[in-house]
Amino acid sequence: MASQETAGHKYVYDFAEGNKELKDLLGGKGANLAEMTNLGLPVPPGFTITTEACQAYLATGAEPAGLGEQIASHLAALEAGMGKRLGDPHDPLLVSVRSGAKFSMPGMMETVLNVGLNDESVHGLARQASGINSGGGTNSASGTDSADAAGADRFAWDSYRRLIQMFGKTVCNVPGEEFEHALDAAKRAKGTANDLDLDGTDLRALVEAYKKIFAKHTGRDFPQEPREQLDLAIRAVFESWNAERAVLYRRQERIPADLGTAVNVVAMVFGNLGPDSGTGVAFTRDPASGAQGIYGDYLANAQGEDVVAGIRNTVPLQELEQLDKRSYDELLGIMARLEEHYLDLCDIEFTIERGKLWMLQTRVGKRTAAAAFVIAGQLVDEGLIDLDEALHRVNGAQLAQLMFPRFKLDHEFQPVAKGIGASPGAAFGKVVFTSARAVELAAEGEQVILVRRETNPDDLNGMIAAQGILTSRGGKTSHAAVVARGMGKTCVSGADELDIDVPGRMFTVAGQIVREGDTVSIDGTTGKVYLGEVPVMPSEVVQYFEGNLDPAETDDVLVKAVHRIMGHADAKRRLAVRTNADTGTDAARARRFGAEGIGLCRTEHMFLGDRRELVERLILARTEEERETALAALLPLQRADFVEIFREMDGLPVTVRLIDPPLHEFLPPLEQLAVNVAVAQERGEDVAKEEALLAAVRRMHESNPMLGLRGVRLGLVIPGLFAMQVRAIVEAAVECAQQGGTPKPEIMVPLVGAVQELETVRAEAEKIIAEVTRGCGVEVLIGTMIEVPRAALTAGQIAEAAQFFSFGTNDLTQMGWGFSRDDVEGAFFWRYLELGIFGISPFESIDRDGVGRLVRIAAEEGRAARPELKLGVCGEHGGDPESVHFFHEVGLDYVSCSPFRVPVARLEAGRAAIETAGSDSR
Ligand code: ADP
Ligand code: MG
Ligand code: MG
Repeated sequence: MASQETAGHKYVYDFAEGNKELKDLLGGKGANLAEMTNLGLPVPPGFTITTEACQAYLATGAEPAGLGEQIASHLAALEAGMGKRLGDPHDPLLVSVRSGAKFSMPGMMETVLNVGLNDESVHGLARQASGINSGGGTNSASGTDSADAAGADRFAWDSYRRLIQMFGKTVCNVPGEEFEHALDAAKRAKGTANDLDLDGTDLRALVEAYKKIFAKHTGRDFPQEPREQLDLAIRAVFESWNAERAVLYRRQERIPADLGTAVNVVAMVFGNLGPDSGTGVAFTRDPASGAQGIYGDYLANAQGEDVVAGIRNTVPLQELEQLDKRSYDELLGIMARLEEHYLDLCDIEFTIERGKLWMLQTRVGKRTAAAAFVIAGQLVDEGLIDLDEALHRVNGAQLAQLMFPRFKLDHEFQPVAKGIGASPGAAFGKVVFTSARAVELAAEGEQVILVRRETNPDDLNGMIAAQGILTSRGGKTSHAAVVARGMGKTCVSGADELDIDVPGRMFTVAGQIVREGDTVSIDGTTGKVYLGEVPVMPSEVVQYFEGNLDPAETDDVLVKAVHRIMGHADAKRRLAVRTNADTGTDAARARRFGAEGIGLCRTEHMFLGDRRELVERLILARTEEERETALAALLPLQRADFVEIFREMDGLPVTVRLIDPPLHEFLPPLEQLAVNVAVAQERGEDVAKEEALLAAVRRMHESNPMLGLRGVRLGLVIPGLFAMQVRAIVEAAVECAQQGGTPKPEIMVPLVGAVQELETVRAEAEKIIAEVTRGCGVEVLIGTMIEVPRAALTAGQIAEAAQFFSFGTNDLTQMGWGFSRDDVEGAFFWRYLELGIFGISPFESIDRDGVGRLVRIAAEEGRAARPELKLGVCGEHGGDPESVHFFHEVGLDYVSCSPFRVPVARLEAGRAAIETAGSDSR
């Protein structure tokens, strides 16, 4: 069917010319329609206009040269193949014009069905449907003797009113409610609530009403020329790429903004031709749990958008077996074939036109985090994929979701409703009924549950703001369900016991009234809804990591799958994973979660609590003796802290960071001190000490504490401070060793910018180490954080004095960009994200080009100076999936992150290793 191309660049592909690998060019929908066509599956014929054409249009505001001609020649080929012409008054070919980007953006962009209908061809369509015209295959609706003229008439006018509605709304920005109101008025006049009760005459009148609405809003009549309809619809799809909700969705999902969408022009097939027609969606496995089986929704006598919109209640796909066994069997056969071909869970859209099955879409289906692990495990068992591939198909973000807490239920909590568990998790919050209110309350710091009959793309903001989403209509494939799953947000859909009154800001359930502001709890796994706040407990996966759930004993398929894939990740990864832990308790938990040491043990808390008093004495000391007394009092306390930590991490390295924050952080705030002094004076008490403290605080005030007297600088100006810490560490290690342990302390000096700083601290520390360890075999490493840009740029020099580097990527990001996190995140980050200055906060995921470059330079130059230099990272980036891949690439030895992130980092380190296998240099 391929036609000759008129102009140089090829912008249009027949379905037979594409395949599933061409998603960049043809979009996901187009590439997969092509793939199914070439598999010989029943796909209505059509063609795809490429993303390049869209990009060109969006860049210049006009269709690129040659596009119009190429569309004309592909349309001509389609018409020839179908034996009918677009919008022919006697026997019209109708098409759908469908958006389809590289990444699926459900419901975000536009589709127009029934293009080619006008005042004349609507009659031709009615004749076709009643079987007067004879023709074969799609779009003819022919050959049924029983086809009755009234039904055919109804169908044709229904199709036409849908065209005006969709075209008006999406192509010409006519407000959709106006059409909805006219439809409601027609139903009211007829005394019904069901679209299907409107007959041909009613719908014909509705078409007239719709045309008036169209003309009122656009200042022109509804376009009658089929090719003009087609061209305008194509252009509208191009433009829908930049619709506000699409932009918002892309940002949320981190989809690049410049990809553009492809446009698919597909011969129409009709699910609204009568009771023997219908439309549906299906998954080859349960996208929520991963269980094998048949999952889908079917709606008889309807066009596709009715299912997704959740406007009418669908029936479970299984019921299709009773309605149309032949199509049902064929569908199951095709689903099995698609899984075998894609080697993965697929989701599909299909339509049955008078007993004939047509495939309208497939793709590798979105799934919950749990389903991702379970399915990957199943596919390994089925011999379809290997463990590397299974590891590749899950990710750290999913694992993190599985570590969310669950509801802890006892008899006290009885569900008041049960909907569909559309996106798992346990969420509670105050009920809100509108997106705007959700955003408002969330901004005030409230947790909210957005309650809607159904959601639509305009609710996106509210969904982002909410803790969870609860709807009374729609199935697993409704807008709410699909979008919530994509966001990893808890969602219960289709809880139809809920009687929702949006204007009244309340709903009724089980005889009770729930108003805006009342608290509800929703379980996105079971679909159950509870009134009040249900307490939560750790998830099974966390219990497994804690060692309380034996994967060999349990029959929890998720735990088994996680265990297996984690095992593979551990076998493959090159990066070690340590944890950031300041106490024995944290260290113990992290170790259960698989941490291989501590990458950052902060010592600040060792100066707090009842030790503040000693710190105050230290700061206020006027003589050397006073200072030494204070330090001597701190020493045994800190030694005991270190003993506890070394015991919990016995045999594994523990990196201890010497005190980092400015000392005035350990003193009371200025205002409080000033008040204390005033009050004490009033009472005639002795205020000498308070006054001295106040003076110290005034003296130590810094206008830019982040860049002030902190880190190594403190150690160099407060005599004995670092020495006390070093002594406490080394004495603790010796004590542990004497009791038979194997402590592996690593002393880390923060905020070094010049090798001379480190050399000074090191000389003092080495003396203490030699003096304390004296022949007991404890080895102590001395290294530094790399968190000041100058340190990264002089890493070759610094490595001469350091046995290890640990990248403090939080400070390195702050100082690299020259902004402080606390000040900027609320102030202007949203704007930077909006402007695309960065796609994600550089505090969340490492900025590869800038801060990442500093890390790379320091790693390379440090290793060049000292080949055995140990390299790690201890900023929060150590637990961020994207960043873990970067640190693997740069060749670090380990990442360190909070205890809960340890499994995530292990998994991602394994994924990074298999993804770069072969090109791995170290
Ligand atoms: P989305 O990406 O939002 O799912 P689609 O382009 O898939 O949008 O189309 C919206 C609905 O219209 C779907 O249910 C789809 O199955 C249906 N549809 C699209 N093209 C056709 C066609 N040629 N014949 C019948 N139904 C169609
Ligand atoms: Mg679709
Ligand atoms: Mg720091």
